[in-house]
Amino acid sequence: MGIEAALPTDTVLTTQLQRVINWSRRSSIWPIPFATACCGIELMATACSRYDLARFGAEVMRFSPRQSDLLIVAGRVGIKMLPVLQRIYAQMTEPKWVISMGACASTGGVFDTYATVQGCDQFIPVDVYIPGCPPRPEMLIEGVMAIQRHIDGQGLPPSGPGGRRVPLGIAVQPTHIQTPQPVGVGRA
Ligand code: SF4
Repeated sequence: MGIEAALPTDTVLTTQLQRVINWSRRSSIWPIPFATACCGIELMATACSRYDLARFGAEVMRFSPRQSDLLIVAGRVGIKMLPVLQRIYAQMTEPKWVISMGACASTGGVFDTYATVQGCDQFIPVDVYIPGCPPRPEMLIEGVMAIQRHIDGQGLPPSGPGGRRVPLGIAVQPTHIQTPQPVGVGRA
């Protein structure tokens, strides 16, 4: 998968190169937003100046799946939209990751209806679940950091029998303690 196939067999050199590859991968995550509802607003806020997702190298939102390696599902997924979501996931470059942001993406939320997918993890592998309605931007950042920690440690996503993708299945706990913002509201 990816550049790993071109690594030499020498173990010392390979280890050092692998570290550089992992560092560059985790420092340049390119997300593709699949924002269908109100969680998308929090996603936009995460990229804005107050929360500044750029600090984590993940602010370059791409709207082409072929240029993306992190799918952020933010909002409810309708049955009619599901084939689009699956196609976007299939077209993304490997190695790729998925964050399910908010109650609607993870469980259908309050929309317990025939027209709403009751959890996108039934159809695509979800690596990080972020609870909340909507989650705060800090929680989305925590989800991105969870994926970065995995890339730092293991590099590639886990795979099962037959090369089948095994999702990380990390749930961000809703224990974020809010601290005063560095710049007070209304102050220049
Ligand atoms: S989880 Fe809440 S905020 Fe997010 S899309 Fe659903 S209803 Fe909107």
